Amino acid sequence: MQRIKLTVHHLYADMMNLYGDRGNVIAIKKRAEWRGIPVEVVDVGLGEVIQPTGCDIFLFGGGQDREQGLLVDDLSGTKGADLKTIVEDGGVVLGVCGGYQLMGHYYETPEGEKLPGVRIFDMYTRPRKLDESRLIGNVLVRVRAPEDASSGTVREIVGFENHGGRTELGNVEPLGKVIIGHGNNGRDNTEGARRLNAYGTYLHGSLLPKNPWLTDQLILSALRLVDDTAELEPLDDATEQAAFSSVVDRIAGR
Ligand code: GLN
Repeated sequence: MQRIKLTVHHLYADMMNLYGDRGNVIAIKKRAEWRGIPVEVVDVGLGEVIQPTGCDIFLFGGGQDREQGLLVDDLSGTKGADLKTIVEDGGVVLGVCGGYQLMGHYYETPEGEKLPGVRIFDMYTRPRKLDESRLIGNVLVRVRAPEDASSGTVREIVGFENHGGRTELGNVEPLGKVIIGHGNNGRDNTEGARRLNAYGTYLHGSLLPKNPWLTDQLILSALRLVDDTAELEPLDDATEQAAFSSVVDRIAGR
C-alpha cells in the first residue's frame, strides 16, 4: 500500500529560525521516516505561495523584531489568509515565539509599530514596558491531555524562552500552564495558545526534539486529515526522554 507522504512547510525558513527552531523540522521528519512515512520539506519564503498537499504540517519559527517586520507585508497578503483557512479546516500549524506572535491580531514592537497578525488566535502581543525585562530562561509547562491520550492524561513540555513581547489571550485556550518560567506574559501563568490543530508557543530549544509526544501529536493529526484510522507505532524514546528529564532536573534545581 502506498504510504501517505507528509509535507512539512517551513515558513520563512531563512528568516525565522531563532535558537535552532529548524530542529522542529528535523524532529518531525525523522520521527515520521522512522515509521516509514515519506516526508518532503518545503521552504516557503517571501513571495512564495503555500501549496497544501492534504497531509501537511506548517511551521513558523521565531525571529527578531527586524525579521518580523520584513515578512509582515508578505504574510498580510494571501499567505496569511491561506494559513488561517488551513487552520479553520483542521490543518496542523506550529508557531514558535515570533511566528506565534504573528498568529494573533498583532505584534506591537518596542517602537510602537503594530505588525498585523493572521488572526488564527484571539490574542495580541504588546511590547515590554521600560521597567519590564525580557522573559528569558528554561520553561516547564503542563499541557492539557491531547485527544488521543486516555482522559486525564497530563503532559508536560520543556523549552527555552527569550522574548520581550507580552502576549495576552482573548477567547482562545492556552497551550498550557506555566510550572516553571514565564510563558505568555510572566503574569497570568499561561503559555502559548491552542485552537483546533494549531499550536503556538514561546518555547524554543528547539521544542520538538525534547518533547516527542508533541511531535507525534502533530504527525498523527496531519495523517488523520487523510486517514482517520491512522496510528503511529511507538518508538524507543529513551534519548528524547533523557533530554527532557535533564532540562526538567536543571530548571527544578535537582
Ligand atoms: N521579537 C519577538 C520578541 O522579542 C520574538 C522574539 C523571538 O522569536 N525569540 O518578543
